Amino acid sequence: MARSGIDVLVIGAGVSGITTALRLAERGHRVLIRARELPHESTSCAAGALWGPVVAEHERVTEWSDETLEAFRTLAAHPEAGVRLVQGLEASHTGMAPPVWLRDLPDLTLADPATLPAGYLSGWRYTAPIVDMPVYLTYLVLRAKDAGVQIEQGEAASLTEVPAGFDVLVNCTGADARALVPDPEVVPVRGQLVVVENPGIDEFFADAEDAAEMTYFLPHGDRMVLGSTAHPARTDRAWDPALAERIVARCAEVRPELAGARVLDHRVGFRPTRSRVRVEREAIPGGHLVHNYGHGGGGVSLSWGCASAAADLVEAP
Ligand SMILES: Cc1cc2nc3c(=O)[nH]c(=O)nc-3n(C[C@H](O)[C@H](O)[C@H](O)COP(=O)(O)OP(=O)(O)OC[C@H]3O[C@@H](n4cnc5c(N)ncnc54)[C@H](O)[C@@H]3O)c2cc1C
Repeated sequence: MARSGIDVLVIGAGVSGITTALRLAERGHRVLIRARELPHESTSCAAGALWGPVVAEHERVTEWSDETLEAFRTLAAHPEAGVRLVQGLEASHTGMAPPVWLRDLPDLTLADPATLPAGYLSGWRYTAPIVDMPVYLTYLVLRAKDAGVQIEQGEAASLTEVPAGFDVLVNCTGADARALVPDPEVVPVRGQLVVVENPGIDEFFADAEDAAEMTYFLPHGDRMVLGSTAHPARTDRAWDPALAERIVARCAEVRPELAGARVLDHRVGFRPTRSRVRVEREAIPGGHLVHNYGHGGGGVSLSWGCASAAADLVEAP
């Protein structure tokens, strides 16, 4: 039988930490989040964020992304959550077929190659949730606090024992799990985005292939997020003007009106890439440690499913 009334300390206030804390609080547990960076300084706030479990490996990825898709579809009816259902085009330079996780979407259709932007060989259209992360994180924090979750800023030096006053420690530290666990399998992959004024585009576009420099744009009302980059060897946190210029230029090859769009912001984050998402439990002095990290480029898309799985592990006898 699942345990009730558990005292839980969640380390990390990105999308994984807050969603896990919220799930636990909604199941009646007492939850404190402790995080070095508050939600709006986390990698989660930098994400684009288009639903799709990209660069995330685990046999339950489809189950977790489906649960998250359902959650986002519900949230799209609440404008304050920052989630929109948007139609768009994903296209491949090499002639790929749609990825497996899209195949159950009701409006997935193959695009006529003659309608694709120059240089693309295949493509498909579908409707998916796009999450405006700064707005969404504000919404999630409010919902978590309403459910009784407390959030404090602070650093966890180790995960070797459950601190006094708690039964379970939950590790949602994203790319920092590499040093904290420690887990050398975690590879932080630097990503950069540009936020511009939306010149009137209401569809998303995304490259299907992963590359160090790829093309996508995501409309969030009067703003657009343009991407992106993926550099495992780079640790610099400041935005790189040369990368930003190339991001805008690539997006403008698909939609020329983006060339002159006013730049509003630049974002940098570190995808917590790992050979396998880690949602696991281990016994440590003082109780249990539950891990929920390693979601790569799909942490937003897996957030609700992984939060439920982590909450199940917290409650396990
Ligand atoms: C450019 C870019 C674009 C992306 N686009 C998408 C997308 O379109 N769709 C999608 O699904 N995903 C996308 N992602 C991936 C997604 O952002 C991540 O998978 C997700 O944000 C990971 O969330 P997290 O909560 O696990 O980690 P994070 O957001 O990194 O949060 C980690 C938290 O742990 C805290 N922490 C770390 N160490 C400690 C410590 N020792 N003590 C206390 N606190 C600590 C941090 O301060 C932070 O609060 C993108 C990522 C990037 C960089």
